[in-house]
Amino acid sequence: MTDVVATNETIIVVGGGISGMTAALEAAEAGKQVILVEKRPYVGGRITQLYKYFPKLCFPTCGLEINQRRAKANPNVTILTMAEVSGLSGSEGDYTATVNISPRYVNENCTACGACEDAVEAEFDDEYNYGLSKHKGAFRPYRMAYPERFVLDPRMIGTPDADKAKEACKYDAIDLDMQEETIDLKVGAVIYATGWRPYDAAKIQPYGYDRYPNVISSVEFERMKDPMGPTGGKILRPGDGKEAKDIAFIQCAGSRDRNYLKHCSRICCMASLKQTTYVSEMEDGKSTVYYIDIRAIDRFEDFYRKVQADEKVSFIKSKPANITQDKDGNPVINGVDTEGYHRYANPHDLVVLAVGMEPSIKGAMPEGIEITINEHGFIENDGSNGGIFAAGCASDALDVNRAVQSATATALKAIQVVNRVAGSEG
Ligand SMILES: Cc1cc2nc3c(=O)[nH]c(=O)nc-3n(C[C@H](O)[C@H](O)[C@H](O)COP(=O)(O)OP(=O)(O)OC[C@H]3O[C@@H](n4cnc5c(N)ncnc54)[C@H](O)[C@@H]3O)c2cc1C
Repeated sequence: MTDVVATNETIIVVGGGISGMTAALEAAEAGKQVILVEKRPYVGGRITQLYKYFPKLCFPTCGLEINQRRAKANPNVTILTMAEVSGLSGSEGDYTATVNISPRYVNENCTACGACEDAVEAEFDDEYNYGLSKHKGAFRPYRMAYPERFVLDPRMIGTPDADKAKEACKYDAIDLDMQEETIDLKVGAVIYATGWRPYDAAKIQPYGYDRYPNVISSVEFERMKDPMGPTGGKILRPGDGKEAKDIAFIQCAGSRDRNYLKHCSRICCMASLKQTTYVSEMEDGKSTVYYIDIRAIDRFEDFYRKVQADEKVSFIKSKPANITQDKDGNPVINGVDTEGYHRYANPHDLVVLAVGMEPSIKGAMPEGIEITINEHGFIENDGSNGGIFAAGCASDALDVNRAVQSATATALKAIQVVNRVAGSEG
């Protein structure tokens, strides 16, 4: 049984991405008791799936490692993974959060030696790589996963493979009898840091993501470039495995369009500009960016200028009408450019759709919670939510820098709430 102590001076943080981790650690380092609830088997969220960060082109692993060290060193933070808040009742300073914890089937004896993974045959689509690869039925979610523990895929439980995994473990770390648990926690303040999910590219029918294998999304492209990713860092066409050299990026794929995703995510332009640098690293690599307008906000303008100066990158001002496919499996982008009004039908090796960021909590907020959600599904920090606050991409589509700033701000607000509780009781 999971044993967690919580009082109405405790802060619960829902979502353990960079925003949730930041909010939890800031509050814990200020001396508050914090419970961090994350639905994946590890913390870090979607930045763990990025190859590099704009604008500095550094690796996310560095910041992640710092935060993991902070979490390990701080007894005020309790991390519950594979857990979700399914209900929340009460009011500021006095909430009850109902938390459901799914079985990992691996206990804290795990040394991450990998013997269970070697022992099993079953394979499943790897969500971490957006289905571009498979993982074994016993797996480490990704190389830097924290907590550093393996997981058994629930679809393997009850099969001979599950028994093989158990037999292979020398540390008695596999517990096939683990059950789902539900616990109620008393807390004073709540921070929602549930982040974002990529807009479903298959909904943008004219672009054929669900029909043409060599049309992929920006988040998949990010995984491909990672040397530890599904293609070992090579940009390979899913259709035939050939290396792609001539790569097109379509901006606002579905975004700023009332048929799909109305809002501008602001990040996608910078993400594609960053991804052109991945292409330019290749000897014969070249990029073409199809755009309505480039939104490189604030100091990111310098980054845009650098990419514009790269002769391996060209820009076509146009919202493509559709994509077709030629006989060699090349996606062909069709449209009219808005600078010369010329029709084009341009074949490329690979097309990357810069999809927008949707709030992941959209349509998934536990019932009964009184909280202001805006027309795009993001949580508004408008002062009417009592002791519930939203950090990072739960509140808006943000880059990491802004997400972390917003997380620190919400930690301070939550601290004020529990301080008031402590004051009224003292
Ligand atoms: C293609 C692309 C490239 C990008 N590249 C960059 C870049 O180079 N530089 C940059 O600054 N930004 C970049 N970004 C933006 C960056 O990914 C976000 O700023 C960052 O992920 C925000 O972190 P977050 O913690 O708010 O959200 P997330 O990373 O989404 O984390 C949210 C966490 O909450 C968990 N969660 C969700 N719902 C629940 C629930 N109900 N219960 C419990 N847990 C839950 C999720 O599993 C996840 O772990 C990029 C975005 C895209 C689309």
